[in-house]
Amino acid sequence: MAAEHEHKHVRVAVIGTGFGGLGAAVRLRRAGVTDFVVLERREDVGGTWHDNTYPGCACDVPSHLYSFSFAPNPDWPRNFSGQPHIRAYLENVADNFGLRQHIRFNTEVQQMTWESDELHWRIDTSRGSYTAEMVVSATGPLSDPKIPDIPGLESFEGKVFHSAQWDHGYDLRGKRVAMIGTGASAIQVVPAIQPEVRSLTLFQRTPPWVMPRMDRKITGAERWLHAKVPSTRALRRQALWMIRELQVGAFTKHPKQLGLVEKLASAHMKRAVKDPATRRKLTPDYRIGCKRILLSNNYYPALAEPNVDLVDSGLKEVRGNTLVASDGTEAEVDAIVFGTGFHVTDMPIAERVKGADGSTLAESWKDGMEALRGCTASGFPNFMTIIGPNTGLGNSSMILMIEAQLQYMVDYLRQLDTLGGGRTGGRVALDARRESVRAWNAHVQDRMARTVWNVGGCDSWYLDDNGRNTTVWPGTTAEFRKVTQEVRLEEYDVLRPGAGKDAALAGTAAAGKGADAIYTGEGAK
Ligand code: NAP
Repeated sequence: MAAEHEHKHVRVAVIGTGFGGLGAAVRLRRAGVTDFVVLERREDVGGTWHDNTYPGCACDVPSHLYSFSFAPNPDWPRNFSGQPHIRAYLENVADNFGLRQHIRFNTEVQQMTWESDELHWRIDTSRGSYTAEMVVSATGPLSDPKIPDIPGLESFEGKVFHSAQWDHGYDLRGKRVAMIGTGASAIQVVPAIQPEVRSLTLFQRTPPWVMPRMDRKITGAERWLHAKVPSTRALRRQALWMIRELQVGAFTKHPKQLGLVEKLASAHMKRAVKDPATRRKLTPDYRIGCKRILLSNNYYPALAEPNVDLVDSGLKEVRGNTLVASDGTEAEVDAIVFGTGFHVTDMPIAERVKGADGSTLAESWKDGMEALRGCTASGFPNFMTIIGPNTGLGNSSMILMIEAQLQYMVDYLRQLDTLGGGRTGGRVALDARRESVRAWNAHVQDRMARTVWNVGGCDSWYLDDNGRNTTVWPGTTAEFRKVTQEVRLEEYDVLRPGAGKDAALAGTAAAGKGADAIYTGEGAK
């Protein structure tokens, strides 16, 4: 266990033990880097898969794809595994790869400050401080739950909690429950609690598109085969990946093609919901894919049950124990469950990161998040984000994107070693050039212009307060892997102690070139 007020210097500090943080730890060890810590605010590993324990919690990406390529699991029980299995998988990764020795649990990062003279990060945590040559921030976009500012909520006398902070001590049986939101979390919660609650009032601000979920048990024979003949497992993963890669073009270039998918989703709804008035409420008025497509076989049937009331309007106000929707509908309830998502476009950790000029990453991102290749921000040397800006996906496995960024991390450290004269920790840092970050983002936003997320006619959490899509990657995972394969030194300033920016590299930067000139050949067309 870490000492209460430890101070330690490490080569790399990783933050978080979700897929991003644990993956970083594995890749660091494989690259021969053992001088690192992983700081985790909770008491165990798992990140969002540790925190989210709500009834029905599962992943809607098939498990054989939603897992590390370097840690295959022949034993996934279902196509779409539940949260307990995913969390157990991450615990096994921590054990099998010898990661626990590096992890400092119950250690919350409070502040990270770049110390220019020393060329290192000072990291203040709830349990002492660290200095680190490099920080890999893997806090993820789904770590801090968001509860909307609802007038009168404080006057509510019943139980209130967020889907990501489920209170298992509170018995919902026989209660009048309000569910707020109809996103990926809520549509899993609704069918799971509907049979046991007295009444369920669902506040729907925007109806989601919901497709059937092709879930089934993975048979014992399949699992045996996957264990004995690993190529069958690899083939399965490859097929799952390929299908999703082929879908990307419809999302990014040809949203009109998605009309056929809308027909399938409508038919799926009609099979379960017979009442035309309810169907009208449940039919979205935007292109499918604009918001995340949800997968469920039991959401619509649950809504058709007599103890469920669908309010076709957002929650506006709370008066005592009465909930009031924007359209004036009222419902008296005993408990409110918020399925209202997370702080995604306003990454909370950014407020705790102070860069070279003393301003925070949140200040630097006040007009919207942006990073070079989704990984590094200008003015924040040797600081890298896993699942950074524009690295999210609309239809495939985030683990693929995480692994691409981990490759970039390993190459970043290799570059530091080379620049440091072959010595590990050779006191040198890389700072993404402002022009390179700008050019990269111009390129990304240019590609974004015709995607379904921008033109599909919806407002989603993919978009920030300025309506800019700073979360999704507008291409295939193969393209992203290609552009994060290696660190291009011409996109960085090299910093050395006391010497400022490395003159040797001046003039070779991407500065001044148009985005197209830089990224042609990287699938930019
Ligand atoms: P979310 O997708 O952000 O959904 C939030 C929901 O709350 C939306 O339906 C939103 O409505 C609604 N909302 C916000 N304020 C409201 C109000 N005042 N009244 C009524 N409704 C209100 O959050 P989430 O469902 O937690 O999912 C977040 C992300 O987690 C997902 O997109 C996904 O990436 C991930 N997730 C994944 C899985 C999985 O199976 N892999 C499962 C769960 C979550 P509007 O649509 O009108 O904004």
